[in-house]
Amino acid sequence: MRIAMIGTGYVGLVSGACFSDFGHEVVCVDKDAGKIERLHQNIMPIYEPGLDQLVASNVKAGRLSFTTDVAEAVKGADAVFIAVGTPSRRGDGHADLSYVFAAAEEVARHLDRDAVLVTKSTVPVGTGDKVERIVRDTAPNLTIRVASNPEFLREGAAIEDFKRPDRVVCGVEDEGAREVLAQVYRPLSLNQSAPVVFTSRRTAEIIKYAANAFLATKITFINEIADLCEAAGADVQEVARGIGLDNRIGRKFLHAGPGYGGSCFPKDTLALLQSAEQCDVPLRIVEAVVSVNDGRKRAMGRKIIKAMGGEAAGKTVALLGLTFKPNTDDMRDSPAIAIVQALQDEGATVRACDPEGVEQASKMLTGVEFCEGAYETAKDADAVVIVTEWDAYRALDLKRIASLARNPLLVDLRNVYSHEEAAKAGLAYVGIGKASRP
Ligand code: NAD
Repeated sequence: MRIAMIGTGYVGLVSGACFSDFGHEVVCVDKDAGKIERLHQNIMPIYEPGLDQLVASNVKAGRLSFTTDVAEAVKGADAVFIAVGTPSRRGDGHADLSYVFAAAEEVARHLDRDAVLVTKSTVPVGTGDKVERIVRDTAPNLTIRVASNPEFLREGAAIEDFKRPDRVVCGVEDEGAREVLAQVYRPLSLNQSAPVVFTSRRTAEIIKYAANAFLATKITFINEIADLCEAAGADVQEVARGIGLDNRIGRKFLHAGPGYGGSCFPKDTLALLQSAEQCDVPLRIVEAVVSVNDGRKRAMGRKIIKAMGGEAAGKTVALLGLTFKPNTDDMRDSPAIAIVQALQDEGATVRACDPEGVEQASKMLTGVEFCEGAYETAKDADAVVIVTEWDAYRALDLKRIASLARNPLLVDLRNVYSHEEAAKAGLAYVGIGKASRP
């Protein structure tokens, strides 16, 4: 199969590289010439474990290439995937579809034969119909079948997720699109390893948002239970294990923390609410999830200040980790942003480190002193805070942290450590959803 991938970001680059690894011939396009230039030198524009080797080996094998030229990329393509961004439209939470529509129009203008146009970007229900109208108006003499193939990969584990997904969802309206997508994903469905679920296009579009809203709900649910545990003198990690061992509930996504962030859950829950409103169907559970999570991120700043005795002015807080989760450099909607803001608003000085996120964080955060590693960050701090559970912060020398800090206090927003471990090192400890100790 010959595949063109429009948009070479987290999803497009990983998907393109994995498709080429399956044996397809893939051309990845991006309008950001700097990104394509770096890719030509095998410099990855994002941090994703294993991606550089995967890209290098497939480029070497002649199956994967990069360009800024859509016309060149779509020439002779059987399938063209759109994997451009769909950020929240400023102000109202609608998904901004301008990049998707512009890409669809450009593809239709340059296609030289019938093809399947597949939306991989996360788009609201009904977008496929609009894309179909755009391509029909732009290229009336071609048969361009429009399909939906939402992506479920997680940053940080993206290659594994793409190659061994729980399922692949393909929304199609005709047999031609179904056949092409079946061919594209054939390597995955061999031995029935990953179910490829074919649905209607609108159903596929809703599946993506329903999945993300459900996961966001699960996280928010355990975060509220964590607050109850703190107030009532119980331990949320034990509660999560106690409920998660029930197969109907499952153990995943029951880790209490500072609230969900990242490039997907916040914007996708908002976009789902907008779709629901347009259909006149209130989604009250999702509404509550969005508002509880928004409040939680700033509440983490207040939690840190409370742990320091209620005063932030003149104090220094050391944040370990800034990205919304480990193994990514993605800072979009990371809880760290609201935490830094809340601390600075109350007069605290913030020092911070992150193994991969500093470059992006420095564009979003002002007045933060970026340091090299946990120990340098902890120096003279009044509180050392674990914001992201990177491996580098999972086996810290807590005694060293205690000796470097001005005030030996560890606020652990990811429950990496325990009261006992911290106490042994001479650190006061505040976790999430755990009874406080004198
Ligand atoms: P991204 O911002 O990392 O990448 C998008 C890329 O598209 C950018 O490099 C941009 O320059 C390029 N682009 C935009 N318009 C273009 C055009 N007309 N022609 C060529 N290139 C163009 O975004 P992302 O994180 O990869 O997300 C893409 C989509 O996938 C979004 O809808 C997102 O919701 C969805 N998604 C993301 C993830 C994730 O973990 N990041 C997971 C599942 C689904």
